[in-house]
Amino acid sequence: MIAGLIGGAGIAGLACWAGYHTMSPTSQLYGQTFVGLGPGSRLLALTYDDGPNDPYTWRMMEVLERHGVKATFFLIGQYVQQTPEIARALVAAGHAIGSHTWSHPNLIFAPATEVRRQLAQTRQAIFDATGVETKIFRPPFGGRRTATLRTVRAFGLQSVMWNVTCYDWKAKSADEIVAHAERQIRGGDVILLHDGSHVRMGANRSRSVEASDRILRRYRGEGFEFVTIPEMMEMQQVAVSN
Ligand SMILES: [Zn+2]
Repeated sequence: MIAGLIGGAGIAGLACWAGYHTMSPTSQLYGQTFVGLGPGSRLLALTYDDGPNDPYTWRMMEVLERHGVKATFFLIGQYVQQTPEIARALVAAGHAIGSHTWSHPNLIFAPATEVRRQLAQTRQAIFDATGVETKIFRPPFGGRRTATLRTVRAFGLQSVMWNVTCYDWKAKSADEIVAHAERQIRGGDVILLHDGSHVRMGANRSRSVEASDRILRRYRGEGFEFVTIPEMMEMQQVAVSN
């Protein structure tokens, strides 16, 4: 009976552990994903998910412009189709763009055919709007499995996670968002923020805009340099080959 209980708890524990890893942003259990450079680096990367989002993507671009910083935007395909001018403006301003699927499903529950459809439609929408063939991808909700990541790689996309979660989708103030960032930033980090929402276009992201301004002011003041994800990935390759 005791052995049975322990065995049962063990299996339940394992299932929980596996479930945790499918959503944990830094876990490598289901295949290699990019999560930053690690402590010691003076580089930081701001990443924004769930746009384009009118007008908050424009406001975010104004803040980044003011600081002379380029960031990375993971775009939802159907929003790109609705507002191609925002996607074009991001590219024109020198920001990096990546795919965040067509309609933001949790890919853990999606069969391979659906994953491929999500990726293909988004690639086409981004290409039609910007002429860019994007090379990077972020899974909605951070959810992925080995099979998902294999499908993503077969599409010529590299999966990018993050290691600083700012919880801006539920924060009540910019203060809260900045506090989450400050607790986690060590250098070499990929910071997750949102310029949009997968729930609807036009979602209020003014707190994320203000928080970005303050994060930039503080960490640029401390001598950190903000780069895009492709730039950070290049640095990692240089470090590995040395
Ligand atoms: Zn998202």
